Amino acid sequence: MKLFETPAKVIDESRQGEAYYAADNQHNNINHFKKFYIESYGCQMNFSDSEIVASILSENRYGPTRDIEEAHLVLLNTCSIREKAEETIRKRLRTISGLKQGKPDMMIGILGCMAERLKKTLLEEEKLVDLVVGPDAYRDLPRLIAQGEDGEKGLNVLLSREETYADISPVRLESNGVTAFISIMRGCDNMCSFCVVPFTRGRERSRDPFTIVAEAEQLFSKGYREVTLLGQNVDSYFWQNEDQQIRYTFANLLEAVARIHPDLRIRFSTSHPKDMTDEVLETMARYENICNYIHLPVQSGSSRILSLMNRTYDRPWYMDRVEAIRRIVPDCAISSDIIAGFCTETDEDHADTLSMIRWADYSMSYMFMYSERPGTLAARKYADDIPEEVKKNRLNEIIALQNEISRKHNQRDIGKTFKVLIEGDSRKSDNEFKGRNTQNKMVVFPKANGYKPGDYVHVRVESTTSATLIGSIVH
Ligand code: SAM
Ligand code: SF4
Repeated sequence: MKLFETPAKVIDESRQGEAYYAADNQHNNINHFKKFYIESYGCQMNFSDSEIVASILSENRYGPTRDIEEAHLVLLNTCSIREKAEETIRKRLRTISGLKQGKPDMMIGILGCMAERLKKTLLEEEKLVDLVVGPDAYRDLPRLIAQGEDGEKGLNVLLSREETYADISPVRLESNGVTAFISIMRGCDNMCSFCVVPFTRGRERSRDPFTIVAEAEQLFSKGYREVTLLGQNVDSYFWQNEDQQIRYTFANLLEAVARIHPDLRIRFSTSHPKDMTDEVLETMARYENICNYIHLPVQSGSSRILSLMNRTYDRPWYMDRVEAIRRIVPDCAISSDIIAGFCTETDEDHADTLSMIRWADYSMSYMFMYSERPGTLAARKYADDIPEEVKKNRLNEIIALQNEISRKHNQRDIGKTFKVLIEGDSRKSDNEFKGRNTQNKMVVFPKANGYKPGDYVHVRVESTTSATLIGSIVH
């Protein structure tokens, strides 16, 4: 399996630095006087934010381009989650800055988490940057751009307790026309000690459920057949109107979206083990169109390390949640995020992580070496004391074990028939389609007459690679 492949929130390595272009032609129209070019890094939330930014710019004279050379405005939507992510972006910035040398009118803007984390110092360190705009300040972009056009640097990194961009209809960029992401909340109120997100994305706030349902309905009417509801901790979604008569928990929201149409599939990410309720699982079990897949990051299998990480659950609690999934949604696939080499981690703690991977039988995991982030609780309280070499070895052991488990997971699917939503041509051949089953596994199969992306088909699995199920359509 690929270390970073697939879904929702976590980093999809194949998409890092992707340059966006509107899938919807109405936004590529010629009434725009100027062109913007945007590259996105990091988690799915950033990719979704770029669609909000594209929408704001499209209303303000700027149309998208894929050609950086013809852009008046070049934007990098950035990620701070690990040091390496920031290094990649700084390197890219240096290349782009070279382009600007011959084009005095070109403006360069940094959006997202790095903008928020580094604020003014980014303008001082990267002299060619004109705009620095944090994740809650995108509505201010037109003003900041106008300021930039007048030769002034633009900075807005104010975080908000209310901003959810609820009324902005995102411009779907680079879309396959079948699957889309919908942000249901922003920020995070958890204080995992390793994590920079609460500092870069601010306090947690939930978006009005009626705008979420309306967005999903609109996507369905345009032919989309799968939506992924996105948040750092979807289980703590909570919204109430002003007089507190109408209240929505995450289970209520899931149900409302699931009721739009049985042919609209629903996924969500990320679930936090401390908040995932049986009510959510029971809602999943009631609706066939809510996919049987949960991303439930464990981070570590050791209760001692989980406590240092401030995850607010321990190993038995996590196991209880996995057992609840197995009981209530029996064929649900579970995936995880795992960090190797957190502060003070011993061989015994590491062995606990390995045994958890085996016990939870994850279909896949995103696996990382711990990277100390300035300003986080861990950076302030604990020494980053595990040598790089040890972190690397532990990570390799984790990857090897997860690969073995993923392979077995897939092998158990041979001979089974799954309902698959066709997403498009497979990467390797235009004679094959690719799509996902309810468990979020990629399935590849030969095309058959009459079927197109957006259709559901039943596919019998005949063989597997480590990351993909291979089969053929059954009628
Ligand atoms: N909200 C999600 C959750 O609680 O699972 C996680 C969001 S974070 C963008 C994605 C993943 O990055 C985390 O689950 C964690 O495994 C990893 N991560 C975050 N900070 C990290 C750090 N300092 N070093 C290594 N990995 C980190
Ligand atoms: Fe970071 Fe923890 Fe919030 Fe996830 S839940 S974004 S890991 S602080």
